[in-house]
Amino acid sequence: MTNLAPVLEVPVLELNDVRYRWPGRASFELQVPHMALAQGETVLLLGESGSGKSTLLSLICGTVVAQSGVVRVAGTDISSLSSGKRDRFRAEQIGLIFQQFNLLPFASVQDNILLPLRFAPDRAKRVASPVDEADRLCSDLGLPHDLLGARSGTLSVGQQQRVAAARALIGTPPLIVADEPTSSLDAATQVAFLDVLFAQSRAHTTTVLMVSHDARLADQFDRVIQIADIAKTTRGIA
Ligand code: ADP
Ligand code: MG
Repeated sequence: MTNLAPVLEVPVLELNDVRYRWPGRASFELQVPHMALAQGETVLLLGESGSGKSTLLSLICGTVVAQSGVVRVAGTDISSLSSGKRDRFRAEQIGLIFQQFNLLPFASVQDNILLPLRFAPDRAKRVASPVDEADRLCSDLGLPHDLLGARSGTLSVGQQQRVAAARALIGTPPLIVADEPTSSLDAATQVAFLDVLFAQSRAHTTTVLMVSHDARLADQFDRVIQIADIAKTTRGIA
């Protein structure tokens, strides 16, 4: 008899009655009554510039904490964690691809890719051979092998974006969050980038939440969310 793991009913991500205002910015408030993502879903979040997409991702990642409401990642209310625990939790649970990549420019490509494993021991346990895994991810993303030792600051913008993707994918976190990751890639690289993201989602039932203003990507995702449909934003005179 096979011993199957129980199906995880808890959404990977759930927001309820969330309200957030940036400190000192009374002119903008983001309100999200409800949002939930299931395990293994690939979701594209669309919205115009300034509509609060990046703010929403910051709340999901716990880099900022909502003034009210609950943000649950893999069942944990992240606002209940101290800031140190939240950083560790984020490193364990979320693969992050930032709009500005946030690579360490003087560190090698390999060191940048392996970085999250240093802060996430459980995630590190899933990677038997980190150096080989970094190499494999680079090759899947179309990055030449000889770039592994190069300083990331010397790479082209498109290459840096793929290093950022490899860093998010390593150790298969349950949630990948990506902020406009394809905007600096050409069409062919964009396709390869999304292929790798979706392959990881299928192989490891990873949930992918990607932000974009490019509605042409919509067909490739399981679901599309328009930020205007799930969030109310208050915008005064800036
Ligand atoms: P989008 O990603 O959809 O373009 P953002 O979430 O970046 O939108 O911005 C929404 C609003 O929040 C804007 O008014 C912006 O000025 C403000 N905002 C974003 N980031 C910050 C920040 N770090 N500090 C203060 N205000 C911010
Ligand atoms: Mg943004």
